[in-house]
Amino acid sequence: MSADRSGQVENVVIVGSGPAGYTAAIYAARANLQPLLITGFQRGGIPGGQLMTTTHVENFPGFPDGILGPDLMDLMKAQAVRWGTHLLEADADSIDLSQRPFRIEADGQTILSHSVVIATGASANRLGLPSEEKYWSSGISACAICDGATPQFRNAELAVVGGGDSACEEAVYLTKYGSHVHLIVRSDQLRASAAMADRVLANPAITVHWNSAVEDVSGNDWMEHLTLRDRTSGETRTLEARGLFYAIGHTPNTDLLSGQIELDSKGYLVTAPGRPETSLDGVFSAGDVADAEWRQGITAAGSGCQAALAAERWLSHHNLATLVKREAVEPAQAERPVNVEVTTESTFDPQGLWQKGSYALRKLYHDSDKPLMVIYTSPTCGPCHVLKPQLQRVINELDGNAQAVVIDIDADQQIAEQAGVSGTPTVQLFHRKSMVKQWRGVKPRSEFKSAIEALPA
Ligand SMILES: Cc1cc2nc3c(=O)[nH]c(=O)nc-3n(C[C@H](O)[C@H](O)[C@H](O)COP(=O)(O)OP(=O)(O)OC[C@H]3O[C@@H](n4cnc5c(N)ncnc54)[C@H](O)[C@@H]3O)c2cc1C
Repeated sequence: MSADRSGQVENVVIVGSGPAGYTAAIYAARANLQPLLITGFQRGGIPGGQLMTTTHVENFPGFPDGILGPDLMDLMKAQAVRWGTHLLEADADSIDLSQRPFRIEADGQTILSHSVVIATGASANRLGLPSEEKYWSSGISACAICDGATPQFRNAELAVVGGGDSACEEAVYLTKYGSHVHLIVRSDQLRASAAMADRVLANPAITVHWNSAVEDVSGNDWMEHLTLRDRTSGETRTLEARGLFYAIGHTPNTDLLSGQIELDSKGYLVTAPGRPETSLDGVFSAGDVADAEWRQGITAAGSGCQAALAAERWLSHHNLATLVKREAVEPAQAERPVNVEVTTESTFDPQGLWQKGSYALRKLYHDSDKPLMVIYTSPTCGPCHVLKPQLQRVINELDGNAQAVVIDIDADQQIAEQAGVSGTPTVQLFHRKSMVKQWRGVKPRSEFKSAIEALPA
C-alpha cells in the first residue's frame, strides 16, 4: 500500500522500517489505527533496516533453521501491510515536533500526525577500509553476537577492532568460536570498565595489539589477512585473520530530532528505563535509536510493540484516535514477496515484462526492440530486495514499453562475469543491443524511469 495522505491528520506515524518500525506498525494496525509508516530510503540505512545487510539470522525466534535477514524483513513488511499499514517509501526529510499535530516532510508531502514512533535505528560505525565493501559479510562484520557462530569463523584467527566495553565483550565472546582473538586498539589503553579490561588482559586466547590501526583486509572470496599499522612507528605488518569485527560504536539516526527532544551525549533518544515514552508527550521510541546496549532484532521488535501499545493508550487517553473500521474481521492473506521462477524455453514470453535467468536474457537481448533492463541480484543482497519492487513498478508503469530480466549472479556466474558485474544490485539498461546506462546500488525509481523514457522510440 503506498500513501498520499496530504491534508489528513494521522493517528500515528512510524518513522523507520527495521524490526522496531514494522512491529510497531503491526500492533498499531491491528488496533485499527491505520498507521502510516515512512520506510526510509537512503538516509540512516535502507528500507528493512540493518537486517537487510546481513545473511543468516539464526537467533530470531520462530525460525529454527535460521532465515536470511532480507527474507525476515520482507515477511515483517508483508505482515504490517496485511493489517492495514500504509507505507510511504521515502525518507523523512524533516520532523517538526514544535507544533501539534506534529509535521513531517517526506517525499514532497507534509504529513500531520497526533503521535509519532521514532524507529530510525542506529548505524554501526565503519572504518571505511579500501576493501570494506568487498569483504562485508565475507569476513567483516559489525555484530559479533550475530555472526560469531558463522562456520567460516570456527577455529579461525579472528580480530576485533575497538577499545571500549563492546570491543572487549565481543573479543571474549569470540574466543568461544575462534582459535585465537586479536584485539586491535588505537591507543595504549582500553576504554572499557576495569572489570571488563581485566577479563580481556587475563585471557590467554586474546592478544591485544596496542597503538594499532587496521589499514585494510585482503583474501580471496573470504578475507584471510589484515594489514596493521603501528601508530607510533608507522610500520605495517600482516596478521592472519578470517574475521574482523567492528566494535567502534554506533551513531543513532536522530539528526532530525536534535534540539527538539532529549537526546543523550551520543545522540540516543532518552526514555525511562524499559519504557517507550520520550521527553515529549506523544512521541515514542522503538529499537536501536534508544538502545546503546542490546541492539538485536528481537529487542528492537519488542520495543516496537511497546511503542505502539503506548501510542494507542496515549491517543485514546487524549481522545485523539480515529479508529478505522475493518470490513472483514480477518484481512486477506499476506502478499508474499514474488520470487519469479527462472524462465525456461517453455515458459518464455517474448512480450513478458518481468522474467528471470539467462535464457530470457539471451532471447530478449537478440529479439526485442524494447528497452531492456537487466537486474543483477543475489539471494542474500538486502538492497536488491529494496530495489526489485521499485523496478517492477517502473516496468508496470511503462505499460509494455520496456522489459526486465533478473539475473541471480550466484546461479548465472558466467553471465555476471561477462557483463563485468562485481556487486549487487547492478542494473544495466540495453537498447537495440547496446548498453546505454549502468547503475550500482539503490537509486530512486525516477532515475530508471526517466532513463528509459529518454530513449528514442
Ligand atoms: C551486519 C549486522 C548483522 C546483524 N545480525 C543480527 C542477527 O543475526 N540477529 C539480531 O537479532 N540482530 C542482528 N543485528 C542487529 C539488528 O539488525 C538491529 O538490532 C535491528 O535491526 C535494530 O532494529 P531497528 O528497527 O531499531 O533499526 P534498524 O534495523 O536500524 O532500522 C532503522 C530504519 O530506520 C530507517 N530510517 C533512518 N532514518 C530515517 C529517516 N530519516 N526517515 C525514514 N526512515 C529512516 C532506516 O531506513 C531503517 O529502515 C545485526 C546488525 C548488523 C549491522
